[in-house]
Amino acid sequence: MVRYELPRLSYDYDELELFIDSETMKIHHQKHHQAYVDGLNKSLEQIGAGSHPKYISAILSDLKSIPESGRNAINFFGGGFENHRLFWETMTPNNDDANVSPGGKIEDSIDVYFDSFENFKKIFSKTSIDIRGSGWCWLALNQTYNKIEIITTPNQDSPWISQKIPLLGLDMWEHAYYLRYQNKKFDYVNAWWSVVNWDYVENRFDELFG
Ligand code: MN
Repeated sequence: MVRYELPRLSYDYDELELFIDSETMKIHHQKHHQAYVDGLNKSLEQIGAGSHPKYISAILSDLKSIPESGRNAINFFGGGFENHRLFWETMTPNNDDANVSPGGKIEDSIDVYFDSFENFKKIFSKTSIDIRGSGWCWLALNQTYNKIEIITTPNQDSPWISQKIPLLGLDMWEHAYYLRYQNKKFDYVNAWWSVVNWDYVENRFDELFG
């Protein structure tokens, strides 16, 4: 049986310090993300999932195949596992200019659907800040219409559960920002743009459109 594990980060907790403090990074990764990993493994055990796909996205895309007794838990912990995995991947200490535009096909697509990178950022920021309660803001690929869009999901719901592929995700749970930013969500979102790993997002997008 596949046991999910906490992914390693490709940077140290203090490398995003200017924008996201190391204590938040450490607690977020070691405690919160670990809890989603443990919850997911336990939930799969409880429904007697002797074997299941290695990629959690395959489970989330087809939640109704999960016995009803375990579905909510797997939605929550599986979403939490995968959302955070992508969250770490889409940040980097090597992008210290928030205004750097991503380039490549992803920028072309952003221009088509949001007019400009500046405008995209503005809409994404506002959408994030407007989330009530805990949730996530995403740039996602809508496979039905083959277009990119900004969406939000509540709690730990993943875009995969509605057959949308997350390209970039921003954690808007208070645990992601409260130590440094308290109620100043705008400052958190604004800082986060400075650590977005556009190379990763662009590669992911290119692979999907391969
Ligand atoms: Mn989180």
